[in-house]
Amino acid sequence: MTRSPGSAEAATALRIRGLVQGVGFRPTVWHVAWQLGLTGDVRNDGEGVLVRFSNADETQVDDFIRALRERLPPLAVIDSIERYPIAPFGAGDFDIVASAATTPLTGIVPDAATCPACREEIFDANDRRYRYPFTNCAHCGPRLSIIRAIPYDRANTSMAVFPLCERCAAEYTDPTDRRYHAQPNACPACGPRIWIDNRPDVEPLQAAQACLRDGGILALKGIGGFHLACDAGNSKAVRRLRQRKRRYAKPFALMARDLDVIRDYCTVDALSGQALRSPAAPIVLLPADGKYRLPDAIAPDSGELGFMLPYSPLHHLLLAPWDSPLVMTSGNLSDEPQCIDNADAGERLAGLADQVLLHDREIVNRVDDSVLRVMAGQPRPLRRARGYAPAPRLPQQPGRHPPCGRTAGAAAKDPAPPCPYRRGNGRERSAGRSPPRLSAWHWTVLG
Ligand SMILES: [Zn+2]
Ligand SMILES: [Zn+2]
Repeated sequence: MTRSPGSAEAATALRIRGLVQGVGFRPTVWHVAWQLGLTGDVRNDGEGVLVRFSNADETQVDDFIRALRERLPPLAVIDSIERYPIAPFGAGDFDIVASAATTPLTGIVPDAATCPACREEIFDANDRRYRYPFTNCAHCGPRLSIIRAIPYDRANTSMAVFPLCERCAAEYTDPTDRRYHAQPNACPACGPRIWIDNRPDVEPLQAAQACLRDGGILALKGIGGFHLACDAGNSKAVRRLRQRKRRYAKPFALMARDLDVIRDYCTVDALSGQALRSPAAPIVLLPADGKYRLPDAIAPDSGELGFMLPYSPLHHLLLAPWDSPLVMTSGNLSDEPQCIDNADAGERLAGLADQVLLHDREIVNRVDDSVLRVMAGQPRPLRRARGYAPAPRLPQQPGRHPPCGRTAGAAAKDPAPPCPYRRGNGRERSAGRSPPRLSAWHWTVLG
C-alpha cells in the first residue's frame, strides 16, 4: 500500500501471524498504539494477533508497524502482517481484548531461559520471589513443556491448577507489567513448590546441595524432564553415575553457573558465548582446552565438553554456590526416554539417584536439551529441542534478553565472581594434550 499524506482516517485491521502469542506481544502493541495516540484494540485468536484501529490514516499505520518491529519482544517472530479496511467501530481508547475461541492455527513458542530481570529477583532478599524456583515473566519461562492446547492461555497449561494470588493476578492483568499475561506467572504464595522425595522434613535446596557436595547423585525435575546431577569434578561420583545409568562411553552434559566457570575449562568463542546466553540456552560443544581439566569419565576420548548455562530459576539457585561445573545428564537409563512424571521418576530414578528433587508443575510435553556447535562461523544445531522446538526457526534476535525493569545494569553481570579455589578429585592443570574429537553424531546422543 502506498503512503498518501493527508489520507482520511479510517478503521483498519492488521492481521499479524507468526510466534506472537505468549511472548508479551499484545502489551507491546498496546504500548506502541498508546504512544502514537491510536485508538482500537488488540486480541489473540486462532490465527495469531488481530489489531484494529478505529481512526488511523495510512501514515499512522506505517509508523505503528515500524515501531512495532523495532520494539518486538525478544521471543516473538512475525511471519506476516496483512492490512485491510474494516467497518467503522467506536473506541475511546486502545484496549487489550480477551482471547477469542476460534480455530487455532498459531505457532507454539519454545521454552525460554530465565531472563536477567527474573534472575535478579530470585537473588534479591527483599523481593517477594527471593529463592522462588518458578519465577518467570512474559519474556521467559516454560511454554511448550506446559501447554496442552492453543491458544496459549493459562487454562490450557499445567499452571491451570494454581489459581493466581491477588498480587500475581494484579501483575497478570496490568498491561504495563512485564508479567502481563505471563501464563506461567507464579509466586511462593500461589505457585508450584519443590520438595525432596520421601523427606518432607528437609529444606529441599539445602538437602540437594548437601547431596551434591557429598558426592551423591541428585535427580531433579526441570522444565522438560528430569536430570541427573553430580559434582563434575568428583571422579568417583561421575564413575558411579555412569555405572548406575549404564552409560559407559557417551559424553555427559555439563552445567556451569556462568561463562567464567566455563572459560576455566574451555575456549568460548563469541558465537558460542552468545548461544550459551541466549533464551534457548542449548548445550554448546566447546574445545576442552582451558586451564583446568575435568575427569576423563565426563567425555571419554573427546577433546570437547558440552556445556550449558542454568536456564531455570531452580538451576540458578542450585548452581549459585558452585565455582565448578555439575554433570547435568538426562534422567533416564541409557536408551530409555527421559522421565517427566513424579510417579515415573519415583520408580525409574530411585535406583539411579541418592536424592530426588521434585515439583508439582506437571510437564505436559517432554523436551530434551538442545545441542549446538559452532562450525565454520555458524551455530549449527545438532539436536533441536528445548528453546528451538517447535519454532520453525530462531527468534529474530536470539541472543537478546529484554532490557526490562530494574535489571538492565545487572543483566550483563554474572551472579558472583569466580572463586580461585578449586577442589581436587581429578581436576588438574591441563597438560596441553589434544585428545581426539568425537564426531557430531556422538554428541547428539549425549546424556
Ligand atoms: Zn523473566
Ligand atoms: Zn502469587
